[in-house]
Amino acid sequence: MGSMRSMRSVWHALSGWIRGRPPRDRGFLVPRRARLGPPKIAVASVGHRFGTGRRQVVALHDVNIAVHPGEFVCLLGPSGCGKSTLLYALAGHLAPSGGHITIDGVEVHGPGPDRLLLFQDHALFPWLSVRQNLEFPLRARGRSRADAAARARAYIGLVHLDGFEQALPHQLSGGMRMRVQLARALAMDPAVLLMDEPFAALDAQTRSHMHQLLQTIWLRDRKTVVFVTHDVREALVLGDRVVVMAARPGRVLQDLDVNLPRPRDPDDAPLVELSRRIRGALREAEGVGADAEARARSGPDGRARKDPSDERAAEGADLPPRAAGGLGAPR
Ligand code: ADP
Ligand code: MG
Repeated sequence: MGSMRSMRSVWHALSGWIRGRPPRDRGFLVPRRARLGPPKIAVASVGHRFGTGRRQVVALHDVNIAVHPGEFVCLLGPSGCGKSTLLYALAGHLAPSGGHITIDGVEVHGPGPDRLLLFQDHALFPWLSVRQNLEFPLRARGRSRADAAARARAYIGLVHLDGFEQALPHQLSGGMRMRVQLARALAMDPAVLLMDEPFAALDAQTRSHMHQLLQTIWLRDRKTVVFVTHDVREALVLGDRVVVMAARPGRVLQDLDVNLPRPRDPDDAPLVELSRRIRGALREAEGVGADAEARARSGPDGRARKDPSDERAAEGADLPPRAAGGLGAPR
């Protein structure tokens, strides 16, 4: 099956490269080692389908992931591979059509105060100041006025927004609004932080600042984080672990431990080289996926639609059918 082939091809490309490295470079990226103790989050045989009949999309197929307390896991994959679907299922906003998700051994049946979902369009209240934006949900969760105020102050400081307590969201830059969102999320002290491409809309430099900030905070708090991204370098800068996914059907290709020292810089040579390798491996996997897709899309007469990308896929070309954007894009 396509999924097995592509899984092998990704691992073949990566392991070949890892073996070829000088000893000091080895082990930066290795298959995930088993962890001791019970997982914080367990995703077992999770599948999800949208729609019915010919319109049906297999957004997730047989996904199995165990996340241990304090891990920073990046779900990495091209657009459409089911990253958001999986994250929303973890958040309890979506009930998967198959399998089980548990947090601390308890099955997820809906959203809960132990999980917080953060995404790129900052859901800040536009008419509330920065301080009020932090205090409001804390008060709503039953914290005293004094406690909410103290937490708001502390977390505003943590994201370097002292002096902006009274500002309204529209008076801040996109990066600052994202920092407010991050501060608000952290102030709520969720056990699990779920992030869906939160920095995708930021310019490169602001993004890089957010990466540094998030690393610093994570090293301090060691929250369990599941961070969705289609950006290989972002995944390698942030993740302890990178779960590589592919589309059609949405599935896990590889579960890798990232052993690069922290704090990490996106321009670190081993990181740049690793991301180049992963991109290449994913391009191959996408070629295999496209092969399967072309077969699935072929008409009742068994002939694939005449489209140059389909022809490439049918020939087993190792180039991605959709070279633009996402993981398939050459640098
Ligand atoms: P990602 O976040 O990795 O880009 P998604 O989880 O958003 O991927 O989507 C996975 C697949 O499911 C895609 O093919 C997408 O088009 C499809 N999908 C997502 N949401 C819906 C929906 N509400 N209805 C139908 N199809 C959907
Ligand atoms: Mg998404």
